[in-house]
Amino acid sequence: MFLLEGERRCLACALQYRPLLRRSALTALVVGTALVAINQGNSILGGGLPLALLWKIPLTYAVPFCVATWSALMNSREPLRRRAEAKADLPFGFGGGSPKMGRRRQSARGIDEVEEP
Ligand SMILES: [Zn+2]
Repeated sequence: MFLLEGERRCLACALQYRPLLRRSALTALVVGTALVAINQGNSILGGGLPLALLWKIPLTYAVPFCVATWSALMNSREPLRRRAEAKADLPFGFGGGSPKMGRRRQSARGIDEVEEP
């Protein structure tokens, strides 16, 4: 499970999360353009890119898109302890902390989130 803006999402839902896709696309645009300029800039400026190398351009944009998406997902993974708590309802004191502390979390925006049992 992934935590995006305080909401739990599975992989399929996380991959459809618009803000994440928008950020990845922006990264791909900036990094991809820089890489195309570095790799194919000479050919493009020097009178046309050979057709045989044209397929590399979409790939050059796809790589930073995938890396940005992967990084965002890895950074939003639900902590292991929280995942275990959600799966098997551990008895109080088992995972450390008081029952209340185990159930309630402070989100980054200061809003209390109560986990479902
Ligand atoms: Zn889902």
